[in-house]
Amino acid sequence: MEQKRVLLCLAHMSGNEMQYIQEAFDTNWVVPLGPNVNAFERDLEAMVGHDKRVVALASGTAAIHLALVNLGIKRGDEVIVQSMTFSASANPVVYQGATPVFVDSEPVTWNMDPELLEHAIKDRIAKTGRKPRAIIPVYLYGMPAMIDDIMEVARRYDIPVVEDSAEGFGSRYRDQVVGTFGDYGIMSFNGNKMITTSGGGALICPDEETARRTMFYATQAREPFPYYLHREIGYNYRMSNICAGIGRGQMTVLDEHLAHHRHLCDLYVDDLRDVDAITVHVNPDERFDSNYWLNTILIDPSTGVTPEQARQYLDAHGIESRALWNPMHCQPVFASAPAYVNGVSERLFATGLCLPSGPCVSDDDAHRIAALLRDLVSK
Ligand SMILES: *Cc1c(COP(=O)(O)O)cnc(C)c1O
Repeated sequence: MEQKRVLLCLAHMSGNEMQYIQEAFDTNWVVPLGPNVNAFERDLEAMVGHDKRVVALASGTAAIHLALVNLGIKRGDEVIVQSMTFSASANPVVYQGATPVFVDSEPVTWNMDPELLEHAIKDRIAKTGRKPRAIIPVYLYGMPAMIDDIMEVARRYDIPVVEDSAEGFGSRYRDQVVGTFGDYGIMSFNGNKMITTSGGGALICPDEETARRTMFYATQAREPFPYYLHREIGYNYRMSNICAGIGRGQMTVLDEHLAHHRHLCDLYVDDLRDVDAITVHVNPDERFDSNYWLNTILIDPSTGVTPEQARQYLDAHGIESRALWNPMHCQPVFASAPAYVNGVSERLFATGLCLPSGPCVSDDDAHRIAALLRDLVSK
């Protein structure tokens, strides 16, 4: 019997997305502004709290870019970026003509190592005579970083923090939504993220003034005149009212999606509990509350099973999986960027695997995946 392929993480339209899209068509709001955009931004603000303002944008990458624009990052500046991440965390640094400086992870959350961060800041000051202009920690696979410690270092050196919470939508640290600790936070609504707008993102801003500036840059930096007047370079980064309609619908099922990702984590943990060679990545203690956007495992290298072998094995059984992210300091495109490494991210990449985790993954799928992994490592 032909079985449906189980995918890593797939968007699932299960709320009233269609109703909001229909409203946009019926009222002819098919432009990058309108009632859905406004309502979606208010929904997001209600979720993040802390008097933050949220601006909906064309992508998470655009959100990181505009955070850096708002902070005045420019040619010659250095920006510290978590090395263990997706390239979109670092690319906007280069868009601004600045240089990314990569910092490795600690082994507990797999996110930016606060001690190595401080070492990197000191060393950059010693080597360049200037402080890095911003710090971009990441919530990899949804797991909160050691953000209290990162913020403590950032405050001590008075360096702004842009939290790349693209993968951490709905995750919390000490019961506070990630993306609200630093100066700016990022959301992504790409098709494979926690919720989707087909493609989209948002910038969590500290106040009304920065939200207004963000909107200004996102709409081609048009000065408020009856004719076109430009004093600065702008971008076309606003979210479409159609996409925002999908986002509004997705927000109505967010809690169900979060519950399902966490439920799948429980299943993987339970089924693999007695398999010593496989470690499921879980919240290290009660401060951490991951959304488990992607459930991930480490495979003990003494088994002789590499992540690529596991990926091929699962693939042959109709299951999609993927290696953990290949750190930025190992990417050819960033070969000349300064990097402060401790071996953690390279070890994670060499031994880790992302497992199917989205709303389309059933309990039976999870049990089958765990059974296949168990067989593989005990061969
Ligand atoms: C997806 C992602 C982004 C970029 O978001 P897009 O909406 O796809 O542009 C940035 N950082 C991380 C860590 C991501 O996973």
